[in-house]
Amino acid sequence: MAIKPLMLCILALGFLPTGPAEAQTAPAESEVGQPLPAWSEGELDIHHINTGRGEASFLVFPDGTNLLVDASGKTIEKPPFSLPTKPDASRPPGEWVARYVERALPLSRRRIDYALLSHFHGDHMGAIVDDSPHSEQGDYQLSGITEIAEHLPIGKIIDRGRPDYAYPKPLKSRTVANYREFLDWQTNNRGLEVERFEPGRNDQIELLRRPDAYPQFEVRNLMANGAVWAGLGSEKRELFPPIESISPGDYPIENKLSIAFRVTYGKFDYFTGGDLSAAGDETLSSADAWKNVETPAAQASGPVDAMKANHHGSWDANSAAFLGILRPRVIVIGSRAEGHPAVNTYKRMTSQATWPGPRDVFVTNVSPATFKTTYGIEDAASTQGHVVIRVAPGGASYRVFVLDDGDEERRVKAMFGPYASK
Ligand SMILES: [Zn+2]
Repeated sequence: MAIKPLMLCILALGFLPTGPAEAQTAPAESEVGQPLPAWSEGELDIHHINTGRGEASFLVFPDGTNLLVDASGKTIEKPPFSLPTKPDASRPPGEWVARYVERALPLSRRRIDYALLSHFHGDHMGAIVDDSPHSEQGDYQLSGITEIAEHLPIGKIIDRGRPDYAYPKPLKSRTVANYREFLDWQTNNRGLEVERFEPGRNDQIELLRRPDAYPQFEVRNLMANGAVWAGLGSEKRELFPPIESISPGDYPIENKLSIAFRVTYGKFDYFTGGDLSAAGDETLSSADAWKNVETPAAQASGPVDAMKANHHGSWDANSAAFLGILRPRVIVIGSRAEGHPAVNTYKRMTSQATWPGPRDVFVTNVSPATFKTTYGIEDAASTQGHVVIRVAPGGASYRVFVLDDGDEERRVKAMFGPYASK
């Protein structure tokens, strides 16, 4: 068939929608089965690391500055709800993350520049239990973020609680107490910096090496502790009533306090928001509408090309309103338990009624039980493996690589794209 001029135009601009079936284009063939090519200057890499035991993402910015988001780690659940540790159970999840990060770091830079904890839950920071090993450095135990720091130096940690860890009430869990011991020791002995995440700012997480070379790159802080970027300058607005006016039994739960931010590189945008959710229970009354933190987060962000799903694709997150604003071409679900993603959530993500147009859903880990209950999941772009979004220099296009998580070779199982950034 002759290609009409209009079609040529569309092809040249890269606007032709691609789905999973046609996305594996010829140039990728040589890469499948091989280790992921190393990051190179100008690229933006977003790794979603599958340990089976929580969430951890690792971003390498265009100038090589890097950011770890969450640390995976020990969770409280026992089988059958939890998934197997990946690559295997011979090491704790935090150590697997550290080893993955070491391999993904640009050559000659053996340090994490920024580490951010979206919120204080064990599957994101590493829960501490009786038998958690002790650090060989300071007087604290190892899991998740503390375990990672045992293997790799960290320049700055950003969380939602610094300095008093007292919102909405003093955080007194064993895991947070251990984390604070760790912060004290690292700041006193290793020069670690620690900051509270400030919604609205676009200069808290910055390019540290060649900022002038990439003026089209930005990390915009969108939300934390129920405060959201107001859209002008670095102003924010509060979604929650004053804490004094809420009875303690009605305080927002930890998930709803999660940090969300947006990464922009030219035309490319990416959203990530920890375990933010829309609902608190099945019947969120109008009096509790302030507990829907997802929709304001999406409104602050605007449409994106790619996103990490909130709360592992659980039933209470990624509402139709939220997705309909973000309208992502690529969704990555960092699953860590049975029921991730939930059937209703997956339907919202894949329905043309939520928003029109093509989209590909990548899940890091789907259990056999979830395969039976989340109808349609077999049509996802992938259901097992690390998921890496690699944005081309300048941000005009990006590709998605699914990596084998059975060992540390980071072999490419499949490649999708290139997608044109919107
Ligand atoms: Zn979680």
